[in-house]
This record gives sequence, C-alpha cells and structure tokens, in this order.
Amino acid sequence: MTEEIDVILELICEVLGEPKKAYYSHSQFSWNCPICDEGRGKGNFEVNIEKSTYNCWSCGDSEGTHGPIGKLFDKFGTKKQKKLYLLVRPEERQEKRSFIPKVKLPDGFTKILDCNKIYPPYREGINYLKSRGITDEMCEKYGIGLTSIGSFAGRIVIPSYDKDGDLNYFVARSWNPRAKQKYMNPKAEKDKIIFNENLIDWEKDIYVCEGMFDAIFLPNAVPMLGKHLSELLFTTIYEKAKGDVIICLDGDAYENAVKLYHTLNGGVLYNRIKMVRLPMDKDVCDLRGEINDYYIKIK
Ligand SMILES: [Zn+2]
Repeated sequence: MTEEIDVILELICEVLGEPKKAYYSHSQFSWNCPICDEGRGKGNFEVNIEKSTYNCWSCGDSEGTHGPIGKLFDKFGTKKQKKLYLLVRPEERQEKRSFIPKVKLPDGFTKILDCNKIYPPYREGINYLKSRGITDEMCEKYGIGLTSIGSFAGRIVIPSYDKDGDLNYFVARSWNPRAKQKYMNPKAEKDKIIFNENLIDWEKDIYVCEGMFDAIFLPNAVPMLGKHLSELLFTTIYEKAKGDVIICLDGDAYENAVKLYHTLNGGVLYNRIKMVRLPMDKDVCDLRGEINDYYIKIK
C-alpha cells in the first residue's frame, strides 16, 4: 500500500508539481488549485490517495474540482498518466466495491478486566494503558481489550458497536513505541460507521475528536477516525445533535478544525458549534480530556 501511494504521489506531482503540504500518515496531500489559486498559494486542492479522492475547498462546488483521482488525471494530466494510475491505484478500492466480510474482533482478543495481569505480554499492554491515563472504568465502559497473538498481536483493541449493539468496527493501537504502524484497523469501511453510536447521547452536547483514544476522555464524544468528517457522520450530527457540537481535533490539525467548523456551522447547527484549539503537539488523550482552557472563538 505505501509503495503504491508513493508511485501515485509521484504521478500527481508530475501533473501538479511539488505538494504544498503532505500528511503521509493519512496519505493526504495538498497543492495550489490549478483552476482557482491564481498564484495566491492557498493550497486548497487536497488529494487523499488512500481514499482515491480529490477536492478543491475553494472551487470544488462551483467548478466541479472534486471526485475520484482518475478524474484529476482526466482533467489535468495526460492519457498516459491516467493509464499508469489505473494500473497502480490501491487494490483496496476495488475490493471495497465487492464483498466486505463481517467485522470480528482480532484473534486472542481479551478484555482488560478479564486479563491475567501478570502474564508478561498482557502486562505490557496494561502498562501502556496506565501510562496514557486510561482507567479500569474506561476499559469497562468501552469494552477495551488486547491481544498478544495473530496479526494484531501487541495491540490495544477498542471495539465499536452500532445502535443495536452489534460489532461494526474496532481500532487496534500498538503499545510498542517502535511499531511501524501505530494503528491497524479492520477491512470495514470506517466512513460507513459511527464509532460506538450505542454510547452517544444525541440530546446532550457532543464532542467531535480525531481518535477513539481521545473520545474515551470526553463525556459524550464521537471520533472521526482521522482528520476528516465522513458524509455519514456529518448527516447524523446534522439530523440528531440537539445540543452544542464541540470540535476538539489534535493541536496540529487546526486548519482541519477550522474547515470542520465552517462545514458544520450552518442550517440547524448554526451558532451551536464550538471550537477547542489544543497546543500544537497535544491531543485530547495527552491532556487526559482537560480541554476547558482551550476554547476559542471563530469569526
Ligand atoms: Zn480550486
């Protein structure tokens, strides 16, 4: 996957030049928009290689500058570049259109509360949770577990259940600081689920954060599982949220947070969106949910 992303990135660079910003961990890159930027250097043209989509935040709607990456090559590249792209684009996209197996918890999944706490691999995991301030109560509330075997070995697992209490997703975070891949998630589409919707009270204020490790520190939170709001989560918040919506992304995602603010702050949600700006290198989990000092006003 990473190699494919590099090849595709190179191809897009042939078309658009060097990216203005690069978030390798999310395979998200931005350029100055070839249609509307006109030398202003705004970097509004975002491409997400893993999701195979692009969008210009400024002229996407008016000029149709958004869609699958294939369209990007049709519009701005050559036939040859498009052909190459189709050859190397991520397999997963093609798979996703077909059958996706039902999510099941990783092999060896054991709830923290049921763990033998002196078994060394488990102890490592439990120590990791302690170091991040995650308590037994939180482990119980969210059904947090771990596994020391299989492809998810050495990971803390937080399951997600839908409204009816059926498992629909999980996040698995490595407790080894040297792990190449911090998170490993199941092959389900994260944009098609709302993490732990069974625990969300839509009548109360809702916190929107990036990851589940942030969400567990907030009273009524929904994680985006990244820095971008899915269509489903947007619609659900719009239709169901009765209180305020508080945006609390990681400190390094201020630009995403402002965009999110403007996306949400309209229609029935107008004037109900609040914003938290955390220090650059911090997230909600680092601050153990103590975010009250960081509210800001957006004009
Ligand atoms: Zn544009």
